Amino acid sequence: MSEAYLRFWGVRGSYAAPHDTHLGVGGNTSCVELRWDDTLLVCDGGTGIISLGEELMQDAGINEMMVVFTHYHWDHICGLPFFQPAFSPAWRIKFFGPGDTAADIEKRLSDQMKAPYFPVETETWMADIQYVAPHTGGLRHGPFEIRHFNVHHPGVTYGYRIRVRDKTVVYVSDNEVQFLKGSIAKRIHEFEEDEHELLERMVSEQRTAEVGAIENVDILIHDAQYTPHDYNKKRGWGHSCYVDTVHLAIDAGVRCLYLYHHDPTYNDDQVAAIHRDCLQIIRERKSDMECLIGREGMKVPL
Ligand SMILES: [Zn+2]
Ligand SMILES: [Zn+2]
Repeated sequence: MSEAYLRFWGVRGSYAAPHDTHLGVGGNTSCVELRWDDTLLVCDGGTGIISLGEELMQDAGINEMMVVFTHYHWDHICGLPFFQPAFSPAWRIKFFGPGDTAADIEKRLSDQMKAPYFPVETETWMADIQYVAPHTGGLRHGPFEIRHFNVHHPGVTYGYRIRVRDKTVVYVSDNEVQFLKGSIAKRIHEFEEDEHELLERMVSEQRTAEVGAIENVDILIHDAQYTPHDYNKKRGWGHSCYVDTVHLAIDAGVRCLYLYHHDPTYNDDQVAAIHRDCLQIIRERKSDMECLIGREGMKVPL
């Protein structure tokens, strides 16, 4: 009998938060595993990937995987220097992420292991490592069809649309929903009256692109980092207010939303309060979308 699932290994944004008040949700940074039998696809290599690596070393039935990175901020790559399969000659690992060439991707991932930041370099990796060159069409890894798209976050950052079996999963760890709308609204007085129509068109185009990227997907894992209060202080930082994330997901007809990239300063009670508010919004919008907290260790059948 074949088994397909996704599992959250790290759900925190920005930096790890291993406090006992936070562990109900989880303290490790971004990492999600998608598995169909012996085919393994991993999204991001935050501290969550360390425990995944430890588990994989116990599992003799698998020795190949692909890891796709949304971008190279520390919270998404800092588990790699401790990722045991990379140091094992038994493994074949493909890496993909933003970059103009395969060499770009290699440089961005390996620079963090150069002296004086780390005691050993990627030359000590014994696995058969391949950096996958950028492509115009989609990527494929076994039964997984993978497409990337750009999201709003400092530097080039990807979201991933992944098709496996008859399910579509979209992974958007870091993204500021409706960035343009918020920043224009704040500075609208700086624009001439006759520019307003153009601005409205730009906002509407951004919304169409945002909705199009996640339309009718079965599972959306999306940045929901800030409360409205904190978002007001952190506009432009590249992360979403959960209210905007929920409205976007409803507008796009998403079936199940997982709140993700939780702020490291929020404890379990604060994340639970965010979740309750999301459920309230969903009720008010008379939507039947499911919404759950992305929690470390949670396994979701596909
Ligand atoms: Zn991040
Ligand atoms: Zn980031």
